[in-house]
Amino acid sequence: MNASLTMVMPDDMHVHLRQSDMLDLVLADTVKQFARAIVMPNLNTPIISTKLAIEYRNMILNSLGKVKDGLKCFEPLMTLYLTDLTTTDEILKAKESGIVFAVKLYPNSVTTNSHVGVVDIFKNCYKVLDMLQMIKMPLLIHAEVSDSRVDIFDRESVYIDKVIIPLRKKYPELKIVIEHVSTKEGVDYVYSSPNFTAATITPQHMLYNRNIIFSGGLRPHYYCLPILKSELHREYLVKAATSGDKRFFLGTDSAPHDTKAKENSCGCAGCYSSYNAICLYAEIFDKAGCISNLEKFASLNGAYFYDLPINKQTLTIHRNENIVPDKISFKDLNIVPLASGETVQWHI
Ligand SMILES: [Zn+2]
Repeated sequence: MNASLTMVMPDDMHVHLRQSDMLDLVLADTVKQFARAIVMPNLNTPIISTKLAIEYRNMILNSLGKVKDGLKCFEPLMTLYLTDLTTTDEILKAKESGIVFAVKLYPNSVTTNSHVGVVDIFKNCYKVLDMLQMIKMPLLIHAEVSDSRVDIFDRESVYIDKVIIPLRKKYPELKIVIEHVSTKEGVDYVYSSPNFTAATITPQHMLYNRNIIFSGGLRPHYYCLPILKSELHREYLVKAATSGDKRFFLGTDSAPHDTKAKENSCGCAGCYSSYNAICLYAEIFDKAGCISNLEKFASLNGAYFYDLPINKQTLTIHRNENIVPDKISFKDLNIVPLASGETVQWHI
């Protein structure tokens, strides 16, 4: 067993950095292990224009200035929040800005701050989709139906049948990322599409099955969307991620909420995995006997899909048993990191 592992510096292709004090609290964790990150646009005021994306990027760079040595080694890759009203001009503006790398599709009301999300993608967004296909800008999809009549564990597979399969027929060369894929059906869909389709996979969907949410009581810090699935799905995700297949890459979906919002009669969805994400992934790859494929998943596959250069920096992690802290804090904010209290075999 190697005592350490050096790889091309990873990228996090799906992260929620939030804003204000929360941004200041979480950014250092992302920066210590990732060279770049695809930053999600679902702030309280969603990032629906290039102008807002530039402002948000400046906010992140400003916060980065407070992180020691952060400025020289981290690049936030911004995204636009797709709405029924997004115009092709706005997409072109985003492309020309050089700072926006993708457009995020949230079905209306599916998760945190998705109230302005798309109601009918086929009726309201066809011009924008044509444009995205033409300029090769990826469409990132939260692939779940928001219809409350559909069982929460089936929302991804229903979305794939109802939206992604018809979408793919209409836009054969549109770059699509199924974000935080969580089911066998989702993975199988990606396997069935040789080009232009990829998926990010979170650590929580590979570390745990849904039993953890109810183990010994209700555990709100394991509640995320898409919700954790059964063991069959978990094993299937691990197999896809650790295979080295270029269509699967790292996206933590790290989504911090203050403990007051999580430990609540109506708690928010999201796991904070940025604290030690690369170590959690290393743990998963190690257990699967595929640690040699971690670099592909974490540092290469995503860059290829996004047509980005491979990072020049490297990251070394060490085999060093350690316990994940119960919480991390800043001012009056507290976050419980994913796997808190558990022993992890790797250390940054
Ligand atoms: Zn997310």
